Amino acid sequence: MSKRLIVAIDGPAGSGKSTSAKLVAQELGYLYIDTGAMYRAVTFLAIKNNVLRNTKTIIEIAKKSNIDLKFINGITHVSVDGNDITDDIRLPEVNLNVSDISAIAEVRKILVEKQRKLARENCGVVMEGRDIGTVVFPDANVKIFLIASIEERSRRRAKEYEEKSVPISLEEVKANLEQRDKIDSTRKISPLTKAPEAIEVDTSNVTIRQQVDMILEYVRHSAKREGIEFEN
Ligand code: C5P
Repeated sequence: MSKRLIVAIDGPAGSGKSTSAKLVAQELGYLYIDTGAMYRAVTFLAIKNNVLRNTKTIIEIAKKSNIDLKFINGITHVSVDGNDITDDIRLPEVNLNVSDISAIAEVRKILVEKQRKLARENCGVVMEGRDIGTVVFPDANVKIFLIASIEERSRRRAKEYEEKSVPISLEEVKANLEQRDKIDSTRKISPLTKAPEAIEVDTSNVTIRQQVDMILEYVRHSAKREGIEFEN
């Protein structure tokens, strides 16, 4: 197999990471990996087992659970030990707790190892998260950092909830995004931050097509620099 790239896409919630990462992966014929889904899976299990305040048990859960991601027809299907939890990990209660769980160093260590393993096994990945370009793959070939205004990010998330008939107000969505941004960017381990060499793309006022094209342009540029040819 010819040499392939690792494309890292980081940024805060609602900045357009999932939307653009999925499309970029599809166009490149690469594997798309949503690392947030892994942190959400551990959080959901902590809620289900009623152990949100018990760090030791949460670490055990992260260690023992077989978290599996399968990307089918535009959706990341998440299962744990064979049980599908795709919808459960998007519940408002998970949103409220996921940043605290993600701040646990041992949980991060376990999940980062799984993420690196996935990339090793699949050669050619687009991985999205908060620390992909800084910690998971500091030597990723392409590093993109997406941003967007809090108003636009809240509007996007509120629309997603509306489409799924989840009763949650725009104000609640905005408050949750602000709370998560704060915890994610101020935590001691792997905070959400732009890698110095990452390219910042503001998605507030561009179409999805435009943001995908901008990312693909950087990918092509980087591939050319490294002498990598695309099969698609
Ligand atoms: O990407 P998503 O919004 O689904 O991520 C949910 C949460 O998971 C984030 O708010 C953050 O706390 C955590 N996360 C993380 N590191 C990643 C991906 C997600 O800490 N690489």
